[in-house]
Amino acid sequence: MIDNQLIEKLQKENVTLAFNVPMKHHTSFRIGGCADALCEVKDVPSLRAVTALCREYGVPYFILGRGSNLLVSDQGIEGLVITLGGEFCEVSLTEENVIRAGAGCTLAKLCMFAKEMSLSGLEFAWGIPGSVGGAVYMNAGAYNGEIKQVTVAVDYMDKDGQIKRCRADELQFSYRHSRFTDTEDIILSAAFCLTPKEQNAIAEKMNELMERRKLKQPLNHPSAGSVFKRPEGAFAAALIEECGLKGYRCGGAQVSPKHAGFIVNDNGATAEDVLHLIEHIRQVVSEKKHINLCCEVKFVGRK
Ligand SMILES: Cc1cc2nc3c(=O)[nH]c(=O)nc-3n(C[C@H](O)[C@H](O)[C@H](O)COP(=O)(O)OP(=O)(O)OC[C@H]3O[C@@H](n4cnc5c(N)ncnc54)[C@H](O)[C@@H]3O)c2cc1C
Repeated sequence: MIDNQLIEKLQKENVTLAFNVPMKHHTSFRIGGCADALCEVKDVPSLRAVTALCREYGVPYFILGRGSNLLVSDQGIEGLVITLGGEFCEVSLTEENVIRAGAGCTLAKLCMFAKEMSLSGLEFAWGIPGSVGGAVYMNAGAYNGEIKQVTVAVDYMDKDGQIKRCRADELQFSYRHSRFTDTEDIILSAAFCLTPKEQNAIAEKMNELMERRKLKQPLNHPSAGSVFKRPEGAFAAALIEECGLKGYRCGGAQVSPKHAGFIVNDNGATAEDVLHLIEHIRQVVSEKKHINLCCEVKFVGRK
């Protein structure tokens, strides 16, 4: 599928290329077969060139953030998995109270930078794993905060390699959704407008929310966070617990005994184990509670 001519052309770009890469090393679930190739691009021209080459050679590609909301198939991922490194990991203060971060930057780095600049608004995101790109794509949120509340603009590359800018009102943010969820556009960077605040107060809030996470979430086990979206008027974790499924397991995949909204990889779980468990949970909750749970975690790779 990825022939030698394509490999030669890819290697001329500002990228790091590896083949047959186990995706379990690149996902928070620690699950997943091999990607045919993993390509870290370091700048916009190399991203444009790599995606154009994939299209020219008919090779599919997938943009990977930090892999914290993904379940990768045991059969791996066909084609190129692209990650954003180099200049995509930068973060800076661009205007008064406005921070711009590259899509490859971790949310943790962004939150720390905001705190160092004494800017408030991102405290809720402290503790959410993943990248800025993934957070914008998912409209990540926690503890009454959401990325949409602070995002003022997003730069992205469309499928023709054109760079465009979306303002806040064009981003179509809703619960765990943005305009990027429905397009092939690649998020390059995002700008966040924040509010000046005393640094200690920001740090205190971040610590408080991290403590709440540690108390409630099974952070010592590999997972992809909450597996299901919050259904209208209910909480997925409560429904699952009320159905008696806390601790229920399929192979190495288990409904976390600590937080029923999480599935944890307890002992060498496969993607198949997780999919079976998800199906079982959905079936039981549908029968007993008459509510259809929708997955927040994305399945990627060969079916
Ligand atoms: C322990 C734990 C706790 C969690 N807690 C929370 C929480 O409180 N709130 C919450 O919202 N989520 C939470 N999550 C889920 C996850 O961290 C978020 O969904 C996060 O935003 C995913 O970012 P990522 O970079 O890992 O994206 P990935 O999982 O790598 O990708 C997710 C999707 O985003 C797309 N994507 C990533 N980068 C780009 C880009 N540059 N351009 C276009 N598309 C892109 C990918 O193609 C994929 O479709 C948690 C996960 C874990 C493991």
